Amino acid sequence: MSGRHDKDKGVNVQVIVRCRPLSDDEMRSNTPAVISCNEGRREISAMQNIANKQIDKTFVFDKVYGPTSKQKDLYDSAICPIVFEVLEGYNCTVFAYGQTGTGKTYTMEGGGRKKVVHPIQNGEFPSDAGVIPRAIKQIFDILEAQSAEYSVKVTFLELYNEEISDLLAPEECSKFTDDKSKKPLALMEDGKGGVFVRGLEEELVSSANEIYNILEKGSAKRRTAETLLNKQSSRSHSIFSITIHIKEYTPEGEEMIKCGKLNLVDLAGSENISRSGAREGRAREAGEINKSLLTLGRVINALVEHSGHIPYRESKITRLLRDSLGGKTKTCIIATISPSIHSMEETLSTLDYAHRAK
Ligand code: ADP
Ligand code: MG
Repeated sequence: MSGRHDKDKGVNVQVIVRCRPLSDDEMRSNTPAVISCNEGRREISAMQNIANKQIDKTFVFDKVYGPTSKQKDLYDSAICPIVFEVLEGYNCTVFAYGQTGTGKTYTMEGGGRKKVVHPIQNGEFPSDAGVIPRAIKQIFDILEAQSAEYSVKVTFLELYNEEISDLLAPEECSKFTDDKSKKPLALMEDGKGGVFVRGLEEELVSSANEIYNILEKGSAKRRTAETLLNKQSSRSHSIFSITIHIKEYTPEGEEMIKCGKLNLVDLAGSENISRSGAREGRAREAGEINKSLLTLGRVINALVEHSGHIPYRESKITRLLRDSLGGKTKTCIIATISPSIHSMEETLSTLDYAHRAK
């Protein structure tokens, strides 16, 4: 990977940018595109004409994916190497960060009307399958080709207003008592420096195809909760975690369990930050909704800059992901942007945030 790597501290953060194509509506209304992508040079340029003065801003990232980039290309070049690390026993995290409507969910879960992808047919994915199904398939392809015993477990949770809800909890539970279903899950310290979510449903997965039911269940639950609670997915984060245990033997014949974890995170829309003026340092005004986004940015900056204090504790998302951020872990941030002139300000803010994480 081309991300920054420090052998002593093992910090490796890769920042990539993906620009979506203009939508059909934008095409119909002749919306000007102001973003140009040079994948070979890993450059993104934003061009704007203000008071007849052409303003050109160019940013360089670890990787750049233009509007015609395919799901498979992004996966193969940016995510595939991370999954190999996970199978070697590392904890890794992939974030999708960006303004609502720029392709975070498309990139993480996939396209299509139902967002969630249909099962693998003839060993192939539909071309719009996103990172989550592709990662699961890669994991099973590798594990099934080996002779070692293994287990693959997944959790799927949502963070809204700093409250955790389980996207995989069985429905009966919520029908049983109304109160229980609304009660957020508690984040607990495990006494060994780690954290866990009390009562979070963990599903054992035994083949790649099962993942579609799980994703569909989780996404349906997210949609229902959205309608019931009158909230928007643009204001919540979702974390899909895959934990892999592999039984191995040392040369002396001793049994050893190798454990790796991959977190796939679809973050809340980044417009939540700038609208509340948080970019100008008035973080308090931003409120709970984007406390996570701000803290996440600070944690990543602190990790990259090797500063002593890393403010994990300041938000639930960074507390939750603590064992997968920093130390011997790998992190990939996929910043998603729109090419439209109407999103210029948000796009520049996303590019700034992403560039600071490098
Ligand atoms: P977000 O999750 O960031 O709010 P979505 O993933 O829902 O955004 O994407 C918004 C719309 O744009 C969807 O209709 C999605 O299918 C489409 N889209 C996003 N990125 C791409 C892309 N790279 N190629 C084609 N369509 C895309
Ligand atoms: Mg989304």
